[in-house]
Amino acid sequence: MISQTRMIVQNSLDALLENEVFLPELTGTERKKAFMSLSSILSTPNHVHKSFIRLPLESGEVVRIPAFRVQHNNALGPYKGGIRFHESVNEEEVINLAFLMTLKNALHNVPFGGGKGGILIDPKTLDERELHLLCVKYVRYFSDLIGPDKDIPAPDVGSGEREMDWMMTEYKKIHPGHAYLGSFTGKSVAIGGSKGRREATGKGVYFTYRYLLHDYMRQNEKTLASSHNAFAKTALEHAGRPMRTAIQGFGNVGSVTAMEAYSCPHIQNKIVAVSDRNGTLVNPDGLDIPALVAFASKNRGDLPMTQKALQAAGVSADIHDRDAILSMELDVLFLAALEDQLHDDNKEQVRARIIVEGANAPITQEADDYFSEKGVVIIPDILANAGGVIVSYLEWLQGRETQFYTEEAVYEQLIHKMQETMETILPQFFADPFSLRQNCYIHSLTRLSDVLYRQGQLY
Ligand code: NAD
Repeated sequence: MISQTRMIVQNSLDALLENEVFLPELTGTERKKAFMSLSSILSTPNHVHKSFIRLPLESGEVVRIPAFRVQHNNALGPYKGGIRFHESVNEEEVINLAFLMTLKNALHNVPFGGGKGGILIDPKTLDERELHLLCVKYVRYFSDLIGPDKDIPAPDVGSGEREMDWMMTEYKKIHPGHAYLGSFTGKSVAIGGSKGRREATGKGVYFTYRYLLHDYMRQNEKTLASSHNAFAKTALEHAGRPMRTAIQGFGNVGSVTAMEAYSCPHIQNKIVAVSDRNGTLVNPDGLDIPALVAFASKNRGDLPMTQKALQAAGVSADIHDRDAILSMELDVLFLAALEDQLHDDNKEQVRARIIVEGANAPITQEADDYFSEKGVVIIPDILANAGGVIVSYLEWLQGRETQFYTEEAVYEQLIHKMQETMETILPQFFADPFSLRQNCYIHSLTRLSDVLYRQGQLY
């Protein structure tokens, strides 16, 4: 995964050098030098912080748990990115995710830089007291780095509102008298979080798909019909017709995306499959998504995976194995589980012609190249799943102003921001041969180069 993002960014950087949007005021060697500066600034993080958190367990054992905070780049504003609690967290992964955050914030014009944290732990193996202590100690170990104007963590895989509440409380204790509400985002609403934050990523993921397939197609149908662009052809073939839709992953992102798809008045989605870590549920006539959401919310997030449980949930479906969802006859596949789900070994079995990345990096480089050559439209992670960081920005603003917005106001601003990005990116995407991912990277890099140049950092 690490080399993959870097490789695509390197390709996008190469494309950028040839492009007149890259620092048009510079020519010749000056331009080349600025380009080399940009390339070297982005290829390495500004700081990698690592500690071993000492944690006494209830059993009497004392363990030391590796913990990271990576600060990739802060040209656009304070570092921003989640803290992942997972048993496979490693330094390279955290660096890569921090890099993606720099690009994501630049793409959506969010005034934050890129950061990421990680703790090498399966949080389910700790009891509540141990987990609380781990969160508190993470803040103590990294307390000098964190702050509303320096580096603002948020939840990621394995962490949520509860962990952010604990962490902000510890930050407040360590820095008495300082503004603290903006030090962490993704907090619960009762303690200064934002309404709508929990749903933000899934809503944004679905919006990018709806905007591309419905709003944009309707406005530009005639122009696109005369284009030779393979992606335009795929989008046009699917616009305005019923869609066989599937969602991999039914957690925070997947379940909200599924509800949005189910209730969308603009696109006729028939949700023929959803999956989670235990299996895939299939119904060619369409699944009852509200009933599945209700079941999952009462069952630690899991879908019903026996006929008895399906009956209890009031849902009619066949149960298939976990990865069956990836190779079904579909029009659109939302990936909202983990990284590296579509890869060299299964890419040829994928039938969907539109794929939306709710998860970070769910498609490997080889599979991505393969799909792009075949004209499959992929809405990439940095475009599709930015709803979380956009509403985190709104949470940070609300915390600074100590003025809180209604849920409607949050969604309105979220959609407005994502629409602005789509309006900027899509005309270019349908006019050049690059994938949507590469177009997004080129746009992010252009914005970063412009800012870094004006800050006097490209020499
Ligand atoms: P989550 O833990 O709430 O849900 C993950 C879901 O994936 C669960 O339903 C789980 O059962 C399922 N799953 C796990 N392994 C699977 C597998 N092999 N096949 C099918 N399903 C599987 O996590 P989330 O917050 O929904 O995040 C999902 C992805 O989206 C992650 O990659 C995360 O980094 C990314 N993301 C999340 C946010 C956010 O705001 N939550 C923002 C940006 C990106």
